[in-house]
Amino acid sequence: MAEKIEYCVVGAGVVGSSAAYLLAREGKSVALLEQFEFAHDRGSSHGESRITRYAYDHPLYVRMAKRGFPLWSEIIAESGEELYIQTGGIDLDEIGGKGIRDCRSSLDAENISYELLDRAEIKKRFPQFELPNNYEGLYQADAGILNASLCVKTLQTLARKNGGHLADKAAVIKIEAEGDEFAITTKTQKLIAKKLLLCAGSWMGPVLHGWGVDLPLTVTQEQWAFFEAKDSAAFMPNKFPIFIEHGGEGSGGIGWYGFPIFGRNGVKSAFHQTGKVTTADTRDFEVDEKQLHELHERMQKFLPDASTNIIHAGTCLYTNSPDTHFVIDRIPDHNNAVFFTGCSGHAFKFGPVIAELLIQLVDRKQPTVDLKMFSARRFSAIKV
Ligand SMILES: Cc1cc2nc3c(=O)[nH]c(=O)nc-3n(C[C@H](O)[C@H](O)[C@H](O)COP(=O)(O)OP(=O)(O)OC[C@H]3O[C@@H](n4cnc5c(N)ncnc54)[C@H](O)[C@@H]3O)c2cc1C
Repeated sequence: MAEKIEYCVVGAGVVGSSAAYLLAREGKSVALLEQFEFAHDRGSSHGESRITRYAYDHPLYVRMAKRGFPLWSEIIAESGEELYIQTGGIDLDEIGGKGIRDCRSSLDAENISYELLDRAEIKKRFPQFELPNNYEGLYQADAGILNASLCVKTLQTLARKNGGHLADKAAVIKIEAEGDEFAITTKTQKLIAKKLLLCAGSWMGPVLHGWGVDLPLTVTQEQWAFFEAKDSAAFMPNKFPIFIEHGGEGSGGIGWYGFPIFGRNGVKSAFHQTGKVTTADTRDFEVDEKQLHELHERMQKFLPDASTNIIHAGTCLYTNSPDTHFVIDRIPDHNNAVFFTGCSGHAFKFGPVIAELLIQLVDRKQPTVDLKMFSARRFSAIKV
């Protein structure tokens, strides 16, 4: 006989794992189903590091960060794990460029303080950077690194500890609406759930298609690399901030970004939203040599002392929406089913916030932030 639960969460990346934890700690009956083994490296949430920050090009994300920081603090307090390292963050741009301009107006709108640094001041504080003459920076102290894989593992541990039912190697192969409930079939079990949260990352396109929702999403395989530093001490988190260089085509106009040494013995950096278009099931995990070469050149120009050798490189998936904003919505005609997609390469920091919004949506409670910007219906050409 099928097991009955209140909430079924599909997908154990940072969003689904956060949802399972938040529901379990409220004493709700929740199942989290993951198609692969937990902590696998085929999705978007694994690895050493993700940037978290307030500095954003749109005030809505600053508002979400205002909720995200305390939520992560609660998770850290409950688990005792060191999930976050504050390093400060610097946004780099041409003087008067759109990237810093938009961040300033979002931060001003949300009363978050920051410092505008000219090139000389950047050089004084962070001599590691070799910047073009026409560059400036926006420094915001409340930024840093989330230890990605440990965050996801911790969320799952806490979800279990609070009574959640977690199953890996449990690919959901069929979901059928049965009255107000959902019958969820995996390879090994059948569940009946009152509420459904779909958090399937780069697999969301096909999942949504089954519900008649056809969103213009693209999955890209993004390239990252760790670079050896001449003097590692100069690039440790107490000396060197997370950084973002604006001017690219990616979400928030971000072109390129990087981290202090953390997790591996090198400075991690990557281009943003420049990966080749693929699908979650057909991506090849191959390192893109051309992109690596370009990344190396960028490091040689901007961070010459952290560009000796590439010591490690790999790939990871983005699921991109056309406007690079998230999609958080209900499944049409099914008020008890909600979904998240369109991470566009910047959702990790908001994992618990997105999960909370999904829970508010499915429970028909007032969302913490206005969800209009994340509506699936903004893509007019789609059937929703
Ligand atoms: C290289 C890289 C760098 C990034 N840097 C940052 C950063 O600095 N800051 C930041 O905030 N964000 C960053 N991101 C983005 C962030 O990591 C992602 O937005 C986030 O991890 C997405 O999480 P998710 O839970 O939506 O998806 P995923 O982590 O992909 O999880 C979805 C899960 O659903 C499972 N699933 C799918 N279909 C099924 C099914 N049928 N049955 C059961 N399970 C299923 C999948 O196996 C997967 O485990 C980065 C991403 C990459 C790739």
